Amino acid sequence: MAGEPQADCLFCKIASGEVPATVVRETATTVAFRDINPQAPTHVLVIPRAHYPDAASLAAEPALLADVIREAGEVAADEKVVAPGYRIVFNTGAGAGQTVFHAHAHLIGGRGLEWPPG
Ligand code: 5GP
Ligand code: ZN
Repeated sequence: MAGEPQADCLFCKIASGEVPATVVRETATTVAFRDINPQAPTHVLVIPRAHYPDAASLAAEPALLADVIREAGEVAADEKVVAPGYRIVFNTGAGAGQTVFHAHAHLIGGRGLEWPPG
């Protein structure tokens, strides 16, 4: 069922605390933690505690999707990367680089960011 924990999901296990992570912010509905393989000085993943496989399916819960985006902005402020700017990325589908199928926003900042991305 949408939103229910998945036994084999890494990010459900991080959300529950079963798998450790370097958590930088938590709310009742979200967890933000440092990416284990950072691609920039600031690289934080923001997840909903509830399991949705990708950003588009998370949009079935608009308030929860907004929680994730808001928290990414709060992390950016905490990490002082709001200026000159940061990026929020939802890789969606294996061909776009999605490897964990629990929706997550990558908050990336602290260095120059090229456009278009690779
Ligand atoms: P995706 O490739 O699905 O967009 O993003 C998954 C991200 O999760 C990758 O950037 C990867 O480095 C990160 N990741 C994978 N396993 C772990 C883990 O066990 N802990 C943390 N903190 N990050 C992880
Ligand atoms: Zn999950």
